[in-house]
Amino acid sequence: MFDITCSTCQQRYLVGTRSIRTFRNTDEGPVAIVRCPVGHLLEHEFRARAPQAAVAPSALPEREAHDRPLVAGSH
Ligand SMILES: [Zn+2]
Repeated sequence: MFDITCSTCQQRYLVGTRSIRTFRNTDEGPVAIVRCPVGHLLEHEFRARAPQAAVAPSALPEREAHDRPLVAGSH
């Protein structure tokens, strides 16, 4: 079950998958043509629940300072 907003009825409906007429995948996610209980057809976007952001490396490997700067004692 999912909820749709019919712009013609200006109402939200809770509909099931039976109300889906067609279904297609777009770059922005799956889009379904859903029929509201009254009979209007509308597009419904299924947005991914989980964000698909790339996992950024939170902890970069620290560089160990092996090479300590040698302080040449002048004089
Ligand atoms: Zn409607």
